[in-house]
Parts: sequence; structure tokens; C-alpha cells
Amino acid sequence: MDARIYLDYAATTPLRSEVRAAMEPYLSAYGFGNPSSLHADGQQAKRALDAARDTLADALGCQFSEISFTSGGTESDNAALVGVMLANRQRGNHLITTAIEHEAVTATAHFLETLGFRVTTLPVDEFGTVSPQSVADALTDETVLVSVMHANNEVGTLQPLREIAEIVHARGAYLHSDAVQTFGQLPVTIDALGADLLTLSAHKIYGPKGVGALYVRSGIAVEPFLHGGGQERQRRSGTENVPAIAGFGEAVRLLLPERAAEAKRLTSLRDYFWTQLVRRIPGVVLNGHPAHRLPNNLNISLPGLDAETLLLSLDRAGVSASSGSACTSGSIEPSPVLTAMGLPEARLKSALRLTLGRGTTREELDRTMEILAGIAKRLICVKN
Ligand code: PLP
Repeated sequence: MDARIYLDYAATTPLRSEVRAAMEPYLSAYGFGNPSSLHADGQQAKRALDAARDTLADALGCQFSEISFTSGGTESDNAALVGVMLANRQRGNHLITTAIEHEAVTATAHFLETLGFRVTTLPVDEFGTVSPQSVADALTDETVLVSVMHANNEVGTLQPLREIAEIVHARGAYLHSDAVQTFGQLPVTIDALGADLLTLSAHKIYGPKGVGALYVRSGIAVEPFLHGGGQERQRRSGTENVPAIAGFGEAVRLLLPERAAEAKRLTSLRDYFWTQLVRRIPGVVLNGHPAHRLPNNLNISLPGLDAETLLLSLDRAGVSASSGSACTSGSIEPSPVLTAMGLPEARLKSALRLTLGRGTTREELDRTMEILAGIAKRLICVKN
């Protein structure tokens, strides 16, 4: 039997063996100490945290003290939005976000509305792009924070973040960006993006699940929502997940020298696959921006067919893909991202996300192409 083909790297990535090896000492008798303890066992663990924080700060081009570790992208997004809005009430009560953010941002924005904050949700165009002009038009003297993701997790569209940052800063507001999907593929630095707060997650870059980071520019007040022992410079209480943080640091260390070449390889594989799709499957359309998109992302619609049926058929044939972000793939509601892009019903209902990664080969894509073309042909026959 053929091995399964995994084309869902945007949902999560497998742990690299080197990362697992870097975590192991902190799961054993050697480095189990509590990093807040002053004795040698504690300091052993503290050194692992410091090393990982150093690696992340180097990668982002920021200060060591500007990085806090969290339980992942969801917590970092929550901490950024809730923390900044609560701590800066004297500056205003207005938050701006967009219609294509991850649920970790959209649901948090709704929560803030229940606390009395005013939220503006910006629309996107048919490619899923936020217009910098719409940000300029929405900013008021009351705006404290603007949250615009770096690239969307479903359609892969990249946002003009630098331009947005300049507009936001000119009005004295802060910019938060969720860079969970871009950090593993593109040169993400604080300087290049211009963000004041940045969300990262380890399990999208071949690190462990349940660990992430939040960058906060020095001087910005953020109200913590985990209270206790005051770890992470009072920003996030709770004994740190040392093995996971050590693994995150190692995943970043391994990523940096490989990132550009791997992005190039994935872009070329993805473009090859798209060319084959157009040739083999009549009516296939690309969702998201044709050029400004993540190297590994292909979001397509096969109008007339149903995404859930396609996914189940692909799964039975040994291919793992997704119909939206993993968090919503259990539901049959149309994707809010594709809906915000104004796609017609037939495209919403048949959208399929294929995301490539380190394990993806041309042979796998050729096999997926055969399987997908076969499924599409069979489903179209059944319909007619
Ligand atoms: N933000 C984006 C853009 C994501 O794609 C994800 C994961 O799907 C998250 C946030 C949530 O990250 P985590 O799974 O680490 O909580």
C-alpha cells in the first residue's frame, strides 16, 4: 500500500527529530528543574529558556526582553488584544481588525466588545487583501490597537503590513500581527513588518504543539491575564513549559538557514501542481492572491462539487488536505474568510486547501493529481 500523503502543513507540521532530541534533556533527570529555582537544577532549566529566547530575539531582530513564551498562537493573539486594550484604556477604547483574521483574533475581538470596547472589522477584496486606505479611514483618536495578520491561514494571502504599520503609527496607535503562518516561510523581522506586537506558534514550524511566543515592543503596556508567580517578567505567570520552549528554540535555529531555499522549493512545487491542475481539471479556480501568497499554499475551488465529499474521498485515497482552517474543518459552515472575499456559493462550497511542507515531493504531488482528477471525474459523472 502507498504511504499516506500529507498536504495539510498549514494545520500543523510533524516534529523534527532534532527538535525532539533538543527537548529530551528537559524531560529527563538532567534538566527537569524549575527555571525560577535558584539552585543548579533550576538554573539548568533557566539556561534553556534563555537560549530559546535568544534564538527568537535574533530571528526577529528584537531585544531578548521583548519575547514572552505562551501556550501557542491562540494565547499570544488573546494576550495581545486583551492585554493591550485593558492596559491602555486611558488612550482610548477602539480596536480595528479585519474580516479574515484567525478565530483567535476574531473571537477575542468579540469578547472585547462584550467588555464595552468598540471594534471595527475591515473588509477585504476578492483576493483577501486588506487595503491600507481602509485602515487609514477607520483610525480615530480613540484607536488603541490595529490587528492585521501577516498572511491568512486559509488562502495564504499576504497583507501589505509595512504600509499599514506606517499609517497606524502616524495616528499613534499600535499594530499587532499574527505571523503564525509566515514565520516558517518568509523573512519575518520586526523591522521589515513594522509590528509592535507579533504572534508566533511552534507547531507550524516543525516544533512542538502547545508553545508559542508573543513579541511586545519595549514600553508598550500589556495587562497580563494569567496572575500568579510573575514569570515571564510579570507578563505570564505559571512555570514555563521548559521542554517545549527548548524545542521551539531548536525549531527556529534549524529553520533560519533553510527558510529561503525551502520557500523557493515549495513555490516551484506548488506552481507545478497548479499548472497540472489547470490542465487536468476543467473549471478549477484559485482562491486568494495569485502572486502575494504564502509559498506553500494552494486554495482551490472545483465549482459544482462539494468540499466535504472531496475531502473524504481524498482521505480514503490516502491524502490529507483541508477545506478551511483546521479549527473550522469539523463544521459545514462556509469559511468566513472565503465569504468575506465575496466568493460565489459554488466556490465557497467546493474550496479545498492543500498546503505543502518539508516532506512534500514532486512524486507525491503527481500521485495526488491522479487521485484528485479521478475523484473529480467520478463526482461530476455521479452528478450528471
Ligand atoms: N493564528 C493562525 C494564523 C493560525 O493558523 C493558527 C493555527 O491554526 C493559530 C493562530 C493558532 O495557533 P495555536 O494552534 O498555536 O494556538
